[in-house]
Amino acid sequence: MFTDKPKEECGVFGIISPRAIPAVPLSASALMALQHRGEESAGIATFVDGNLKCKKGMGLVSEVFSSDYLEYAPNTKVAVGHVRYSTTGSCNIENAQPIETVHSKISLALAHNGNLTNSAIIRRELVQSGMVLHTTNDTEILNIMIVRNMIQTGELERAIVNAMNFIEGAFSIVIATKDKLIAVRDPNGFKPLCMGKLGDAVMFASETCALDALGAEFVRDVKPGEIVSCDTKGNINTFMLNNAARSGLCAFEFIYFARPDSVIDGISVYKAREQMGKALYMQKPTDADYVCGVPDSGLAAAQGYSQASGIPMVPAFVKNKYVGRSFILPDQVKRENAVNVKLNPIRSTVKDKRIILIDDSIVRSTTSTRIIKMLRRAGAKEVHMRISSPPFRYECYFGTDIDNRDNLVANHYDIDGICKLIGADSLEYLSLENLKAISPTTTFCLGCFTGDYPLPVTPMFKNLFDESNNDRGENG
Ligand code: AMP
Repeated sequence: MFTDKPKEECGVFGIISPRAIPAVPLSASALMALQHRGEESAGIATFVDGNLKCKKGMGLVSEVFSSDYLEYAPNTKVAVGHVRYSTTGSCNIENAQPIETVHSKISLALAHNGNLTNSAIIRRELVQSGMVLHTTNDTEILNIMIVRNMIQTGELERAIVNAMNFIEGAFSIVIATKDKLIAVRDPNGFKPLCMGKLGDAVMFASETCALDALGAEFVRDVKPGEIVSCDTKGNINTFMLNNAARSGLCAFEFIYFARPDSVIDGISVYKAREQMGKALYMQKPTDADYVCGVPDSGLAAAQGYSQASGIPMVPAFVKNKYVGRSFILPDQVKRENAVNVKLNPIRSTVKDKRIILIDDSIVRSTTSTRIIKMLRRAGAKEVHMRISSPPFRYECYFGTDIDNRDNLVANHYDIDGICKLIGADSLEYLSLENLKAISPTTTFCLGCFTGDYPLPVTPMFKNLFDESNNDRGENG
């Protein structure tokens, strides 16, 4: 029933202009800036002479959209694009977005970041009412709900508000029709979504780094529960969903997922990471010769630790840029080998030195165990591991790829036990209080650390989620 993994980290982008512009090449550039949010598939939809055209494929943006293709893409007024994050077992073109729907009432293309927690219930109701569904993924349900409401209301914005008021979970969405671009952020604002401007073109993106890539100006973040509708005449209207302005911004965006040069809901991702590093020093001041960040995820926090402690920061590893993510490989041997190919220590730097080693997280513990071993083999005298997040103990139902609860090392060992397991001289995790302190005025979703989620999750969804999560590969 649920062949798609319920994990949608993903990145979205949309652009609209009163004049025909290179909307497809601009979208491709923006998606390249969002590539870290998803490497499995990429897609862009646009309207040519009122007809919906969509190209999507497996692989990186540059693989799906060749420079030849982009050179000959016609100028258009509206486009939406998507990059999808890969999790083991879900690599197929069926899951690539944007999802297109062509209907006599409305043709639309929709790109979605986040995870819907009541989609299985809605899917069952749709099927029972005689609807034939073409895919197994959540996003098709959104398209159907919008079209159904469009038939009843005849007005797109109202149809979207009505449809979205039925949807629960995390969703940052961009929708293109032939003359409109509509951005939607769920009432908790789990996932980021910002608005920008380039001349008279308006755009929406998962992260501000995509606006920067186009030389566009940041206008503002889309508010939790807000729908912003822009048309080709330059009109912009906003609407609110029910229950808006609750809060649950995903803390993991700041810990790992977002690019450090992005600013989300007014918080600089880089500054947040730097502050986490400073806090790690304040929590447990430790003397050492060098502070080293695990590239790239630990670098900003290492900078903060170095500033707070006065201990110089040096690179301990060289990262091979040509290797993909080790995290998502299906078995432990492959994951360990991938870490070896990806990171290599600089012996001349670490030999006989006491090292503070900083990474953003420990999930199964593969990475930290491996890299500490590497540092010791390279002659490091002491390795003190510092983690710029609290221990992961719970699954994320809203779109972040956290492993099975059983595979999370923090559910099997206490801090001393993990320290021994990874072979460190000492281990310290960022406290929950210090994580929240990156923005005291923001209410974050901290569910993966506390098990306390901003939204109740139905037992039916939990079961489907667990079944799907169990397909993920063997335990690590
Ligand atoms: P592990 O090796 O299983 O302990 O995973 C920890 C490593 O994976 C850290 O270096 C993180 O930077 C990285 N990581 C943590 N969460 C994720 C995620 N959701 N997607 C990709 N990489 C991750």
